[in-house]
Amino acid sequence: MATYQYRCADCGPFDVIRPIGRALTEEPCGSCAGPSRRVFTAPLLARTPTPLARALHAQEAGAQEPRVVTDVPPARRRPTPPSDPRQAGLPKP
Ligand SMILES: [Zn+2]
Repeated sequence: MATYQYRCADCGPFDVIRPIGRALTEEPCGSCAGPSRRVFTAPLLARTPTPLARALHAQEAGAQEPRVVTDVPPARRRPTPPSDPRQAGLPKP
């Protein structure tokens, strides 16, 4: 679906959502039902957020050339338990 903009001579601009490529040259105004001509505007091009772009790039690169691992990744440290004195007497896992 795409948003197309039209302009009514009396009421001003309004948007119509239609499937891509199905925009009509005229649409009835939503307020007065008068014929309104389509207004051509710049497409809504949103820049991809940087973290998403990095993730997409890494995913795409990994699909073509998987990274070669040469050593074992470092062990994860266990999270430190809370220092609640009431838990000092409990058995350790
Ligand atoms: Zn109108």
